[in-house]
Amino acid sequence: MKDGSVDQERDVIVGIDLGTTNSLVAFMQDNHPVCVQDTNGKNTLVPSVVHFTAAEQVLVGDAAKNLLVSDPAHTIYSVKRLMGKSYKDVAGFQGFFGYKILDDDAESLVKIRVQDRYYTPVELSAWILRELKTRAESRLGAKVSKAVITVPAYFNDNQRQATRDAGKLAGLDVLRIVNEPTAAALAYGIGLAPQQSECIAVYDLGGGTFDISILQIQDGIFEVLATNGDTFLGGDDFDRAVIDFFLKQLNIDAEILAEEKSLGQEIRLQAEAAKKALSTADQFEGRIGGKAVRISRTEFESLVQPLVQRTLDCCRNALSDAKLQTHQIQKIVMVGGSTRVPLVKQQVSAFFQQPVFDNLNPDEVVALGAAIQADILAGNQKDLLLLDVTPLSLGIETVGGLMDTIIARNSKVPNKAGRQYTTSVDGQKNLKIAVFQGERDLVEHNRKLGEFVLRGIPPMPAGLPKIDIQFILNADGILTVRASELRSGVAQEVDIRPTYGIDEEEMARMLLDSIAHAQEDRQVRGLLEARNEANNLLYSGEKFLEQNRAILAAEEVEQTKKLLNDLLEATKLDDKDVIHRAIETLNTYTSPLAHRAMDTTIRAAMRGTKVSEG
Ligand code: AMP
Repeated sequence: MKDGSVDQERDVIVGIDLGTTNSLVAFMQDNHPVCVQDTNGKNTLVPSVVHFTAAEQVLVGDAAKNLLVSDPAHTIYSVKRLMGKSYKDVAGFQGFFGYKILDDDAESLVKIRVQDRYYTPVELSAWILRELKTRAESRLGAKVSKAVITVPAYFNDNQRQATRDAGKLAGLDVLRIVNEPTAAALAYGIGLAPQQSECIAVYDLGGGTFDISILQIQDGIFEVLATNGDTFLGGDDFDRAVIDFFLKQLNIDAEILAEEKSLGQEIRLQAEAAKKALSTADQFEGRIGGKAVRISRTEFESLVQPLVQRTLDCCRNALSDAKLQTHQIQKIVMVGGSTRVPLVKQQVSAFFQQPVFDNLNPDEVVALGAAIQADILAGNQKDLLLLDVTPLSLGIETVGGLMDTIIARNSKVPNKAGRQYTTSVDGQKNLKIAVFQGERDLVEHNRKLGEFVLRGIPPMPAGLPKIDIQFILNADGILTVRASELRSGVAQEVDIRPTYGIDEEEMARMLLDSIAHAQEDRQVRGLLEARNEANNLLYSGEKFLEQNRAILAAEEVEQTKKLLNDLLEATKLDDKDVIHRAIETLNTYTSPLAHRAMDTTIRAAMRGTKVSEG
């Protein structure tokens, strides 16, 4: 804040870096961004880890991280990797997680099972955000209710919306979602000068992920020209290389290590300590299981050289996507703890043929930039331009009366966004599209802007039509909603003026309501989504039984019917976890039957015969 102390009257807007491994919160003090430290005044990083104790108590941060090895099933990490994703998206790397990700429906968003409860990545991220909010509040001695949160440049609409939802659930009004590379550039003051125009690269090597982003900055607007990276490459791989080196030195083979957990843990800790020490020293000496180990900087560098080379290959690809050459990049910003490794700095600098920006703490730079963006939004940096934004979210009603946001609040105007939907009943010919404005999860609490019917969809089985809904918000604030069925080409559109008949006060009330009711809204949404999922499954389950009688044994039919009935009963209760459990039980039982049915169909098709009525 301008006068050096925190102004209690004024709303503090914090900047939050919600990271895969660690998260941080920052704010402006004396016109400079600072990260909030823990109560010991030592650490600004909050590990992005959530632990559920047997007594259903929730621990976040270091306390949770300490239980990662001893109680992996109840300790959730890397939840950012799951934000806004369906099971299908993450099926390939389920083995990476120590906890249970549910495999119930490839299309729906992932859930995480802890004991008998089901959590979404949004709920888990909200725990981390709540911890950051509390930390900031105790540091500032004031309530914190507004934030800017950063996300990777490659996050899609679903992932950004999930991040907004997590903020809301944590009691935060998320004023803006900002790209991490943009925040990092802001922390170095890049893009703050008016009329500045340049291309920059942001090289972000963290614990588990690597991202390179190429940005073009013009008149205060940051445009992402290209992103590239590797979602499984980072400091953890450097640690692994050192672990293997120490194992060889100690003559221990990897199998023994798998059995001796405490020895494994000791080696891991020593390997990370060695790596960190070698960022400043030329030699590391330590002890593992009473025996001496040593590694030199040169040895370490030859171990990690191939990993660093992989990051440079990504840089090359990003440049080629952005249609730029290295000499057209004017600045390179280093982000992430692993950019402290001298070899990384040297090689990146050699690749781009110029020195890199590395004076700020690479762990903090994104949060610091988020605090600067927050300050700009608060109107404290008057000379910086603020783009026009939509004051409330715009979306449509989906099954069960849920609001599906298509253009999020605070998105810049003009804007265009769309999503695809399908029908839920066989042969459905018409689809009603009701457009709403507001932040609540149920449309009944939001403001209806209009509705229209897309008619003449040719009869098709449920789920087959592809209905594309586009929201086009022009510079004058007129919203055009266009619906088209992509297989047949039938289309319809309407124009709406969302700000007509609503004043600032009403908008503010709608916003405050959404934060006050975030918890209950979330519960209702969870329940309705679980019911929708169950209803789809009941529908397809009945169909499956009808079509596959020929290949199912009588007991299999009976058991499937019983589980379908259990699911039907579960949908009558107001508990989403009971529904999820019933879905999981049904899916576990029927998935081998479904595979058998598929094999039979394929075999029959190859013989040119038909086994069942379809
Ligand atoms: P981040 O995900 O950005 O917090 O990065 C964390 C990664 O940075 C971890 O792999 C750390 O081991 C690594 N790291 C932290 N400090 C150092 C250091 N001094 N030298 C090398 N790597 C470090």
